[in-house]
Amino acid sequence: MAFERVALIGLGLIASSISHAMRRAGIASEITGHSRSAGTRAEAARLGLCEVRETAAEAVRDADLVILCVPVGAMEAVAREIAPVLKAGATVTDVGSVKGGVIAAVAPHLPATVRFIPGHPLAGTEHSGPAAGFAELFDNRWCLLTPLPGTDPGALAELVGFWTALGARVDTMEPEHHDLVLAVTSHVPHLIAYTMVGVADDLRRVTASEVINYSAAGFRDFTRIAASDPVMWRDVFLNNREATLDILGRFTEELFALQRAVRTGDGAHLQEYFTRTRAIRRGIIEAGQDTPVPDFGRTPAARGH
Ligand code: NAP
Repeated sequence: MAFERVALIGLGLIASSISHAMRRAGIASEITGHSRSAGTRAEAARLGLCEVRETAAEAVRDADLVILCVPVGAMEAVAREIAPVLKAGATVTDVGSVKGGVIAAVAPHLPATVRFIPGHPLAGTEHSGPAAGFAELFDNRWCLLTPLPGTDPGALAELVGFWTALGARVDTMEPEHHDLVLAVTSHVPHLIAYTMVGVADDLRRVTASEVINYSAAGFRDFTRIAASDPVMWRDVFLNNREATLDILGRFTEELFALQRAVRTGDGAHLQEYFTRTRAIRRGIIEAGQDTPVPDFGRTPAARGH
């Protein structure tokens, strides 16, 4: 493996899963890490995720690969702190859910002697923190890399090899395209889930605990998504504003069309629409990105992750 020493900055769900997956693959002879709070550092040390350092700069000093695993809005401050001590020739990457904003925040601070290759593993759960990670998180999931113009192909191939060893499938794309695709597949769906749960919460004040007690599959699935980390998602929307607003505009138009179909009793429109969307679900299952098992295949054990 190209990277002997790997440093993780931020020690939450994604970083801890990277650590577990690296151990499972038997790669990297040394994993160092840092998290800003003493509590998270202590928990990461107790879990044996890595050699925990008191500062980010100490954690990255000798690293061949540095992975920034903090919320998107925290990337710039971390990049500024570690820049002076990065080893020449090191690869720096990140796992942020938005790429354009991270590149703008991080790239200007890094020395020309390091190779910055932004990335985003499309894998996660609604849980956070160092204890939430598990080795299988990236298995058969996509990791999207958004290399900058002039990226050394050898460095890119090394990073592709790293993520492949962690179980992921890797693809590359332009940062702007990444942000549009993710607005459709992840960011706006989260915003809609947050909204629906918020609406139900308002309603709860009228209907006491009925929304909780009789919560059906549709709403329950929204609540799982809407339980995702508030800071991470605040930063996603602050940093992917343009694509989010673009997709939200299209969503609103479609919603009005469906609203009209409901009001005018246009069953043909509703049925045709739902038939088209059902085919998308089939496509996702055929692509191996979800399971056809009822309740999304969530066993009680899987729900624990
Ligand atoms: P997490 O479990 O909440 O962990 C966040 C980590 O970042 C913790 O170590 C936390 O430190 C640190 N952190 C938080 N705010 C910070 C700040 N202002 N300055 C410095 N450090 C800070 O988060 P995660 O789910 O691993 O997400 C990490 C990154 O992965 C994010 O950029 C997110 O967009 C991306 N991502 C997440 C998912 C997902 O589903 N969760 C999927 C793909 C990519 P303390 O605990 O010490 O405060």
